Amino acid sequence: MLVNKLRNLNYKFVSEQAVLDKGKCISLNHYQKELEKRNLGIWELFGYYDPKEQKVYLCEENISERSKKIAKNLNYNETETYAILRELVRLHEHIHAYTHQEIREKFLRIPSTISEPLTEFLSYCTIKNYEDEYYRQKYLAVFMEVDKNHPKYYRNWRDILDVVIDKNQGLKVEYFCDNPSQHEKAIKIVFQVVMEIIKDLAPNPSFNDFLKEIESTFLCRAVAYAMEDT
Ligand SMILES: [Zn+2]
Repeated sequence: MLVNKLRNLNYKFVSEQAVLDKGKCISLNHYQKELEKRNLGIWELFGYYDPKEQKVYLCEENISERSKKIAKNLNYNETETYAILRELVRLHEHIHAYTHQEIREKFLRIPSTISEPLTEFLSYCTIKNYEDEYYRQKYLAVFMEVDKNHPKYYRNWRDILDVVIDKNQGLKVEYFCDNPSQHEKAIKIVFQVVMEIIKDLAPNPSFNDFLKEIESTFLCRAVAYAMEDT
């Protein structure tokens, strides 16, 4: 399972609950209006992480409904698409929980304009590092399909990938996410470094402040982590 990749990052899995009735899930009938009104991303339709309870909730009905549409768009099998989408929702929500564990009380002070693209970025890197080629492609395709329906600030995750961290070599953050030859270590470094960076951000940070921090400290922190590990 994709979400198991978080186990290698010292993440202590929080409990998870499938919501089979409506619960706190946004109804699919109103979702377009709700998402726009509250500027929410599409993942919010499929699940949520409750930081008070430290628990992940999965909106089963919405996942099931939406996966039919995604399966149609991608010409995938419906049952398989449902399983893939559900796993991607789990990944997204557990990355929020992981972030909470790493930066503790600061978690609630990180604006969603940073935490959402950051979660998307980490999800993308996790998928890119998934060993099984067949499922890696499928996870990626469904992830990209969902990504099309996000508000702009969610899609800023691509800007994180594009940050140049070594001008001489033209090295981008993306390198660390797309490096299957030493994936376990590279992905661990990515998670650790971005957590350190958001933990140290000044109050009321903007997404650009965050990007600038990545640009100036990513590489030296990554090297420090790599050395620590050897
Ligand atoms: Zn989220």
